[in-house]
Amino acid sequence: DATTRDLIGWIERFHDLVREHQAELTELDSVIGDADHGSNLARGMDAVVAKVQADAPTTPADLFKTVGMTLVSTVGGASGPLYGTFFLRFGGSAGAAEALDATALGAALRAGLDGVVARGKAAPGDKTMIDALTPAADAWDAAAASGASVLDAASAARDAAREGRDSTIPLVARKGRASYLGERSAGHLDPGAASTTLLIEALADALA
Ligand code: ADP
Ligand code: MG
Ligand code: MG
Repeated sequence: DATTRDLIGWIERFHDLVREHQAELTELDSVIGDADHGSNLARGMDAVVAKVQADAPTTPADLFKTVGMTLVSTVGGASGPLYGTFFLRFGGSAGAAEALDATALGAALRAGLDGVVARGKAAPGDKTMIDALTPAADAWDAAAASGASVLDAASAARDAAREGRDSTIPLVARKGRASYLGERSAGHLDPGAASTTLLIEALADALA
């Protein structure tokens, strides 16, 4: 099961992956957006890791409150409030639990996803981050329901996120800046779906 220490490891691993893929995320956003997704997330996650190290949170609720608030205040654009909401809702669901089993982590993931949907009003197929997050949450729940460990649930969610990310390529964007391009947004990977796949990959890595 996942402890607060494991979840801090998730956030640190996501920071590393965002740094590693920063140029690639910005490149994706340069094609159908305004070329700032990598730098937005890198700036936000730099601030998050510094703040988490300073605060040394001891519960998931405290950890994700810090993460969410820091992202909202340091990342401009669409992704700051959306990622911020994801983490705030995730932490609200996880609460002060000392260790989260696969069912509890799946519920937190679902709460985060629901927060993103409530805030951004995107539906599956609109070519956004929820096209990766929704199949990830579904795969997580299916694994948890059949008794999988947190690591096995995370691996299933990671594979589903990757498929969901790739499914955005042919889609026409209906939310966010990419929607301004209309039909010309088709044929390109959505940057937010790419970064949320890194988020789920980071969780699988941290739980391994
Ligand atoms: P901005 O578009 O403001 O420059 P970013 O480039 O950081 O912000 O993030 C763009 C990503 O945000 C998109 O690739 C998409 O996945 C996601 N996004 C944009 N609008 C929405 C929305 N309404 N709901 C969900 N995700 C969205
Ligand atoms: Mg952008
Ligand atoms: Mg922008």
